[in-house]
Amino acid sequence: MKHTKNCLKNQLAWVNQFLDYFSKHPNYCRKCNGSGELVYYENPGDQGMPGVMEFADPCECLESGICPRCGRNDSLHECADGTYLCYVCGWDEGTKEVAPPMYECSCHEEYEWNCQQQEDEEDWYNYMQETQELRNG
Ligand SMILES: [Zn+2]
Ligand SMILES: [Zn+2]
Ligand SMILES: [Zn+2]
Repeated sequence: MKHTKNCLKNQLAWVNQFLDYFSKHPNYCRKCNGSGELVYYENPGDQGMPGVMEFADPCECLESGICPRCGRNDSLHECADGTYLCYVCGWDEGTKEVAPPMYECSCHEEYEWNCQQQEDEEDWYNYMQETQELRNG
């Protein structure tokens, strides 16, 4: 299958972003993308709560005292407010500078859609041909 031009452009942008981060922080944690937290979505099912909500658990790197970004195990400092800061790479909790999440393209869906459209066209063509044959008797 082939990717659309837009998809390839997005992939290229992703690669550039990724390499930019990776060249600075080659030892970042692959699990949390260097953010230190694992975000998940859940519906607490509570009355009065707005549907699906965002939750975050500390990643295991942070829990074992490893900096999510530079991967050192001796550089995290707990601050007075209970959050962590790395005094080697400057990482802190809630940083927006994280590795871009894996790029996922949707070309496959578009591809299937195109196939479907082609099948429809063939059906239509067959139908027309049959009609034509019927008419010609
Ligand atoms: Zn992690
Ligand atoms: Zn660090
Ligand atoms: Zn694609």
